[in-house]
Amino acid sequence: MESRKLFVVAQRTFIVIAVLVGSLNLGLMAINKTNASQTSEKETENSKATTAETGVSQRMVAFKQTLLASWKQEAKSKGLLPTTPPQFRGATLKEAKLAKSDKKVIALTFDDGPVPNYTEKILDTLNKNNAKATFFVVGGNLQLYPAIGKRIVDEGHTIANHTWHHWYHRMSPKVAASEIDNTSDLIFKTTGVKTNLFRPPGGIMNNGVVAYARKKKYVTLMWSVDSIDFKQPPAEVLANRIVKGATHGGIVLMHDGGGKRPRTVEALPKIISRLRAKGYSFVTIPELLEMQDKQEKEEKLATEKKQ
Ligand SMILES: [Zn+2]
Repeated sequence: MESRKLFVVAQRTFIVIAVLVGSLNLGLMAINKTNASQTSEKETENSKATTAETGVSQRMVAFKQTLLASWKQEAKSKGLLPTTPPQFRGATLKEAKLAKSDKKVIALTFDDGPVPNYTEKILDTLNKNNAKATFFVVGGNLQLYPAIGKRIVDEGHTIANHTWHHWYHRMSPKVAASEIDNTSDLIFKTTGVKTNLFRPPGGIMNNGVVAYARKKKYVTLMWSVDSIDFKQPPAEVLANRIVKGATHGGIVLMHDGGGKRPRTVEALPKIISRLRAKGYSFVTIPELLEMQDKQEKEEKLATEKKQ
């Protein structure tokens, strides 16, 4: 939440300073004009003013660079389009391929929200445990509960596209396009995030939506661990299933919406603490993609050195 507030504050500060510098420049131009037709005494003042102007413009350049860096960081954490490594655009992934490491990572993902109660409780647990997750939202739900959608992003999680209606049936290219486009448009209007992460409802690959997602260079995200939480097993069973299936670079499928989810809510603190005990930390999907990209680049470099 803090980083987003800072971002907004920085943006406003930038605008105010830009306006101030703009008026200062106009003022200096006016002084310069007057000075041109006056004595050499005034010219000294004029040169002082020019020095001041140079100082201000240098500081402006530095300030702009700082702002740009913070915007890039903001964009990265949210998974904006230009920051997704190109090899993943239009691709389908069920996990990240990462080399063995003591520092294991895993991505928790929640589908079918946002909804009152369950999504909110899941966010509470994630925040309390300082864990980040990815939420594949349904457009229709986001329209009903925009404040919860905003909360997802404000609290540092990633929001992603899970179509508007959550339909399973075969769709014409036009309908598939509206299912995905309308959801992404609403995500952008509600949260400011331009997502290019997509998960097909029911994991169905051949009803037209994935074809459209590919065409539009979305990353289609499947999963490596299915919690089967929609069947509402006891929280203990749910937690054990996920911990047992966990792998470094894995993606866990859970649900915050689409039905009653008290078991998922109940299991989440257990899942987090048991996976942490096994050395896992929790990353968002964009972070996971970035890690694989980094590793691929390092491997490529190592191969080139050998040759
Ligand atoms: Zn779903």
